[in-house]
Amino acid sequence: APAHQPITSSRKLVLLGESAVGKSSLVLQFVKGQFDDYRESTIGAAFLTQTVPVKDGNFVKFEIWDTAGQERYKSLAPMYYRSAHAAVVVYDITSAASLLKARAWISELQRQADPSIVVCLAGNKLDLADSQRQVSTEEAQKFADEEGLMFREVSAKSAEGVEDMFKAIADRMPIDS
Ligand code: GDP
Repeated sequence: APAHQPITSSRKLVLLGESAVGKSSLVLQFVKGQFDDYRESTIGAAFLTQTVPVKDGNFVKFEIWDTAGQERYKSLAPMYYRSAHAAVVVYDITSAASLLKARAWISELQRQADPSIVVCLAGNKLDLADSQRQVSTEEAQKFADEEGLMFREVSAKSAEGVEDMFKAIADRMPIDS
């Protein structure tokens, strides 16, 4: 048991990426342990929280902002991510175009977000890797390394890698004192 009162640090996390790459599904899997094949993209919960244990008995409480499909209709306001402590930039491993969109998001974050933001590039739909993969692990890993980003391949459907990714992000969040 910790020798001190546990500290819970609230941290804003945003998900960015092309429509239908699985942003809402990743949030749903992380927060509720659920996956829904037929969920309407635009009915994503706009705001959810999930608390994750980190070192020394402390906790990070993620305040997760999903775009809830807004990227389909208009460009997202920078206010959405400007105050974020962490960003998960999602692409779909079965769509090369979605990696291009992820690259554009990362450029935008580098120009507009807080320089201390923790960014994770996430290749989703890993469950489809055998039959439909278009983006190799090596290509995405190389890009992430060049840009100094975390990188994970995940599946919101099978849950593979999802909790591990959010925990790894939490471990990089500064803790309030
Ligand atoms: P968003 O628009 O980026 O929030 O994407 P959604 O979460 O709405 O997902 C778009 C579609 O992809 C939905 O039909 C999901 O069921 C599907 N999907 C999301 N994640 C996965 C995954 O990991 N594997 C597979 N096979 N389908 C997924």
